[in-house]
Amino acid sequence: MHEGKLVERIFATIETAQKLIDISPETLKRLRASQGILQVSVPVRMDDGALAVFQGYRVRYNDLLGPTKGGVRFHPAVNLDEVTALAFWMTLKCALVGLPYGGGKGGVCVNPKNLSLLELERLSRSYVEQIADFIGPRQDILATDVYTNPQVMGWMVDAYGKIKRKHTPAVVTGKPIALGGSQGREDATGKGAYYCIQELSKLYGWEPSQTTIAVQGFGNGGQNVARLLYESGYKVVAVSDSVGGIHCPEGLDITAAIETKNTTRNLPTAHDTGQGAIKTLTNAALLELPVKVLVPAALEDQITETNAAQIRASWIVELANGPVTDKADTLLAQAGVQVLPDILANAGGVIVSYFEWLQNNTGDHWPAVTVNDRLKQMITEAFRRTHQIATKYQVSLRIAAYIAALERINQAVLDLGTQETFASYRV
Ligand code: NAD
Repeated sequence: MHEGKLVERIFATIETAQKLIDISPETLKRLRASQGILQVSVPVRMDDGALAVFQGYRVRYNDLLGPTKGGVRFHPAVNLDEVTALAFWMTLKCALVGLPYGGGKGGVCVNPKNLSLLELERLSRSYVEQIADFIGPRQDILATDVYTNPQVMGWMVDAYGKIKRKHTPAVVTGKPIALGGSQGREDATGKGAYYCIQELSKLYGWEPSQTTIAVQGFGNGGQNVARLLYESGYKVVAVSDSVGGIHCPEGLDITAAIETKNTTRNLPTAHDTGQGAIKTLTNAALLELPVKVLVPAALEDQITETNAAQIRASWIVELANGPVTDKADTLLAQAGVQVLPDILANAGGVIVSYFEWLQNNTGDHWPAVTVNDRLKQMITEAFRRTHQIATKYQVSLRIAAYIAALERINQAVLDLGTQETFASYRV
């Protein structure tokens, strides 16, 4: 099985966490490598008649707690190490928040910005054709991730239903509402991070209007967390996308920024709003702003040993998966920068995906208020449990979150029986 750099980083954190608790060696053995990797060629007929073939992956990391669950990423940097690591994080995330799921992930190495809408549809359908026998509503369930959205999920669920000749909405989550999607899925990841920041606010007595926030990445997760914080009176001073960012120390109008981004595909340009001057800044400069909370919401490996010493935020809330490398994590801890880890901070997406899957399996339809109440309850419980463990063992929130996840996976391993169980068994 493939073991790359990112996967090693996750396993190293697991090894640190397991030293503090009583974990069966068999749990570590089971988590050492992924259960299954599918590597596929994804052929797509382009608009000009030419055939393009893209590299695609689907990884089912571990299904001890239930069917594997995880998004599909369309990005030019997608590779097997990244997809495997993302599937590993999903395994830990689902365990931490108490979902009946294991972890999976998929991706295609492609720049979707270079595709027409019809090419994107053909790519989405072709990817599902290649992986259809590897996935299923009780086996491995897809969802959105970087550069995939509800429309892509709609094409994927339609393709799967046609291949299997069976309407199967529960094989994909993050779908449009009319195709079996759930209320509240679109902003669930941002909302989960927002509820976590609300918990931090309560714990540390932050006054929203004095609490400055910078958000790197202005897509599904980044836009929604920025909007919810802005609507609650927090001062969001900077946001960015893949091109670069904007900064206004007096606070940005996030509603206007979202409107501009979604109509023009770009962030607002530098201008004076009357309340303050909006200036452009690079993604690197955004990470180094002196804010209370920095929210990386783009890709992994953004805060590394190279820039860790320049980070001036008090807190990093990892909405993206893996934005802080392990070396940076150590340097940040030494500098007193606290990190709310990805497997907790971005778990809102998979929690509401689980609600969508439940609704698809029962034919039920929950109102938005039910979805939001249950999301808030689940993520707040996970936050408080992680915080309790961090206090009990005097460890970082990342190690605490890994402990909580490991304890749950370990219980499943013990319940299935280990070498000790079988050695002491007498008829
Ligand atoms: P998205 O495609 O909606 O948005 C990604 C954003 O990041 C875009 O604004 C893009 O311009 C920006 N970006 C891309 N490359 C960048 C770079 N090099 N520097 C700065 N910005 C860059 O993706 P998303 O769904 O919001 O996912 C963002 C992160 O959140 C990913 O790490 C993803 O795995 C994680 N996540 C997403 C979900 C979900 O439900 N969508 C759930 C959990 C975790």
